[in-house]
Amino acid sequence: MRDATSQLRSATRRAKSDVANKLVSMFLHELSRKIADKWKLRVDSEEYEQLVRREFDNRCPYCLCVLVGPDSVIEHLDGMNRYRVGLHVPGNVLVACRKCNCEKRRDDSLKALTLAAFGWASFLSHDGSRCGSSCPTCRYWMGVWENEAERKKRLSDNMEKIRSFRSGFPEFEQALPSLMEVLPTLLTKLYSDCQTFAEGEIKSLLERIDQTPSAGPRVESGRVGNAQFVG
Ligand SMILES: [Zn+2]
Ligand SMILES: [Zn+2]
Repeated sequence: MRDATSQLRSATRRAKSDVANKLVSMFLHELSRKIADKWKLRVDSEEYEQLVRREFDNRCPYCLCVLVGPDSVIEHLDGMNRYRVGLHVPGNVLVACRKCNCEKRRDDSLKALTLAAFGWASFLSHDGSRCGSSCPTCRYWMGVWENEAERKKRLSDNMEKIRSFRSGFPEFEQALPSLMEVLPTLLTKLYSDCQTFAEGEIKSLLERIDQTPSAGPRVESGRVGNAQFVG
């Protein structure tokens, strides 16, 4: 059986990337608020949700299933992570089915996309002809539309539909290009600073636990760990 310290360490490895991803997402949410502050349409308004549901006929924009109840979720066309740099603003937010939202995360978490320029377009590019036979996303679409000709047509129609939806938000299209030049570098720095911070803090606490096997950590009042977070 593994000892408590090594268990903590492996949990730490997972947790520190979760924390860093969360921080990136929080930053992108704040940035979105700042950018979309003066836009006419608010992303959290009923008006926007109705516009989206109407535009896509109350169906998932990816698999076209009818959206009902808890199986419909908020979806970001460009994912809100350091690779896709998506924003929570009109034009990037849709309603999709939970299954597609989950399946799309594979493409969203790739550092570099090979099938398309955007995560959503990449997700819709797995038509079964461009990846190896073991690609889980290609297999997902084969399960949705078994017939190859139909699958290719649906995927390409849906891609066109989303592209046309996006072009209806000129504010978004205008803000994006200049942001995309600087954001990836900033977010990569934020992500790695956060990991370094978390690693330093936890290492320091673990060392104290190692030093005091019976008494638990000695935490001086008012101070935890020895690292300083510099943003
Ligand atoms: Zn779907
Ligand atoms: Zn594929």
